[in-house]
Amino acid sequence: MRAWSVTRPGPVDEHPLELVDKPVPTPGAGELLVRVRACGVCRTDLHVSEGDLPVHRPGVTPGHEVVGEVVEAGEGALGFERGARVGVAWLHHTDGTCTYCKRGSENLCPASLYTGWDVDGGYAEYTTVPADFAYHLPDNVDDVTLAPLLCAGIIGYRALKRASLPEGGRLGLYGFGGSAHLCAQLAIAQGAEVHVMTRGAQAQALARSLGAASVNGAYDAPPVPLDAAITFAPVGDLVPVAMRALDRGGVLSIAGIHLSDIPALNYERELFYEKEIRSVTANTRDDGREFLELAARYGVAATTHTYPLSKADQALSDLKAGRFDGAAVLVPD
Ligand SMILES: [Zn+2]
Ligand SMILES: [Zn+2]
Repeated sequence: MRAWSVTRPGPVDEHPLELVDKPVPTPGAGELLVRVRACGVCRTDLHVSEGDLPVHRPGVTPGHEVVGEVVEAGEGALGFERGARVGVAWLHHTDGTCTYCKRGSENLCPASLYTGWDVDGGYAEYTTVPADFAYHLPDNVDDVTLAPLLCAGIIGYRALKRASLPEGGRLGLYGFGGSAHLCAQLAIAQGAEVHVMTRGAQAQALARSLGAASVNGAYDAPPVPLDAAITFAPVGDLVPVAMRALDRGGVLSIAGIHLSDIPALNYERELFYEKEIRSVTANTRDDGREFLELAARYGVAATTHTYPLSKADQALSDLKAGRFDGAAVLVPD
């Protein structure tokens, strides 16, 4: 099968990825073999390709927003029929036995493994997934529209939960890419007033079209104090900016897996009055199932741009440069 492999992690324009031939994987015990029908392009794939995240598996195939079809089930892989549509997301494995897993925080499991980082992912014609970590998907949405929900959507949802936004509250979103545009739809559908701070005319136009109450430049102050904020851009410089925009008691939730250094904070302006900064680390499977259900209920849909699988490197380069709004999705060619 054709698959992309991160052979030399480095700047995306220096071609860290290679399109190679790999054998179609054999599903192990408890695993499903999945024919990939669509795979979303996530910023984390860029971090894996550029070496912002350390190499966990040399030559890994990125991709963790897979919508595919079950073609084979390994021994004891339960819950999915052959031919069923299935979702493969970031969380690939947890031990289920540690303190964190036992208290319902499997996203913090020290033994966790991730799709497209520790194991090969969906920038390929086939991939495998443990049946226990695969998602059932709603029938009435097409593959391409669903794919970005599987990481961008789920992480945005976890970040929104971590932000503890009061009902009907004012939410600030810093950066408006794949994850933020899904998070905004859910927050607005649930009654929030959403203020977007982002660069790029396309992203700003998308924010307006989705019902943002205000849209401003990346470092601008929103027109009202915020009850909660989420930073999606991987830029530590935004943290003090967002903290200053918070109202007393406000919470900032940092959605990225990677963030450049946060500058020194001024206690009086940026933390006092019980403002809080919270990180977001991956997600639990319950987060995933909850979000997919809410997305179906509220009609949360990704704005997508499709690229053929053979142009995955172009999609990553365009993502880095901010050349599209919403999310890119790879489809087999
Ligand atoms: Zn664990
Ligand atoms: Zn992701």
